[in-house]
Amino acid sequence: MLSKDPEKMARKFLDDCADCDICRYLMEDTSCLVFPELYRLYDKEVDRRGKVTDEELKHLIELCNFCGLCPCPNIRSDIMKAKHAFVSRDGLKPSIRFLEDVERVARVCGAYPRLTNRLLQSKGSGELVKKLAGIHPQRKVPEFPLESFPVWAKQQGLDVMRAKGEKRVAFFAGCTGQYLFPQVPKAAVEVLRQNGIEVYYSEQKCCGMPSLLEGDGDLTFEFVKFNVGHLIAAVEAGYDIVCSCPTCGYMLKQVMAEGAANAPDTGRHADRLGTVSQGPQATVHKGAGEPSTAKKPIEGLLKDEGYFAAISARHRIAIAAHTYDLGEYLLNLHRTGALDTRFGPINGRMAYYPPCHMREQKIGQPYVELLRLIPEIDLATIEGSFYCCGIAGIMGFKRDFHAVSIEMGSRLMDKIREMDPERLVSDCLSCRIQFNQMVPYRVVHPIEIIWESVSSER
Ligand code: SF4
Ligand code: SF4
Repeated sequence: MLSKDPEKMARKFLDDCADCDICRYLMEDTSCLVFPELYRLYDKEVDRRGKVTDEELKHLIELCNFCGLCPCPNIRSDIMKAKHAFVSRDGLKPSIRFLEDVERVARVCGAYPRLTNRLLQSKGSGELVKKLAGIHPQRKVPEFPLESFPVWAKQQGLDVMRAKGEKRVAFFAGCTGQYLFPQVPKAAVEVLRQNGIEVYYSEQKCCGMPSLLEGDGDLTFEFVKFNVGHLIAAVEAGYDIVCSCPTCGYMLKQVMAEGAANAPDTGRHADRLGTVSQGPQATVHKGAGEPSTAKKPIEGLLKDEGYFAAISARHRIAIAAHTYDLGEYLLNLHRTGALDTRFGPINGRMAYYPPCHMREQKIGQPYVELLRLIPEIDLATIEGSFYCCGIAGIMGFKRDFHAVSIEMGSRLMDKIREMDPERLVSDCLSCRIQFNQMVPYRVVHPIEIIWESVSSER
């Protein structure tokens, strides 16, 4: 049983990984800052150059951005538990409490886009706003669009569940898509509708990943509870859930369902349990509308005791089993011959970066296959699974984490500069914010390229 004392929890993680030692070398050439620091602290102690202090343990835990590059999911989970224990005991700074509710910040600022943009772009007021919000002065904040996705979606009548189409999708747009880059969810809706799919956009809050990364279990729970309540209604009405943001997809498919298979309240979804309880490697989606199957675990042996244990395990499992990444969903359509592939040619050299949480979903790179259906496309992929952009939710915005975030992303940015694309393609909009900060290339989501190609043929 893990201790509730945050320092003891952090120390246990340090000792476990120091004993194992694999990541001393395995993680050497990666973006992860945790393991170099862990082994530096451990070696310092072994060489009798000083005991690891409580502050050093807390800092070590804070360096993790849950990117998933390291090999042991249980170790990542121990880091997150230690982070949560530090926050439960020491609290969060008011600026972090403000920033971690990404959906609320973006919705409020996006309600007055002209005013917000003017304030942020003017030197004096921009510096003041960033200072008050705890944002590093050099962090570039994206411009707020004049029309958010929720406003457009309502005008399009997407907020009503019609349950008429043979193929139905409840679309989960994510905070950055809804309020900062609405062209992305709009393109997703257009492509889905062009393929005859009924799209429903239910009320939704942040998927919870940014607050989870900050160790704020209570706020994360609040978001997840709200989303589960709305999404389960869609699933029970025959909708699949589709995410254009890989982090939201990772959260709905895996993080939220973690441990759920061990709860007694699994009901008729019991036959799907093992797929979500065993973590990323075990999740298998056969095709749109076809959830995975696996055996129910031995009842009572393990408990569902994670962050979300108080939310119906049956609902979490049903949502996980019916959630697809947008690229995965479209590729499934293509594999069954149901995707409209009347694509027009697209020119220009492009480089695709597969984001961390897409890799964590273990679904390969569906967008690469889809984009290569486009005539004349010149698409290279950024190979190597040890890259990370370093933005890590809101961590890259924070005054005291900005430099670490830039350092984390620098290996990836060097690689991109080497490739020198005309357009940089990635499905993670948080990565887009970091790319806009660090490299001069135009950044697009793959669905924007697909929609551009489809539109040119209409
Ligand atoms: S993360 Fe896993 S493999 Fe890496 S050092 Fe820790 S225990 Fe070993
Ligand atoms: S999740 Fe990422 S940042 Fe955290 S320890 Fe693993 S590799 Fe490092």
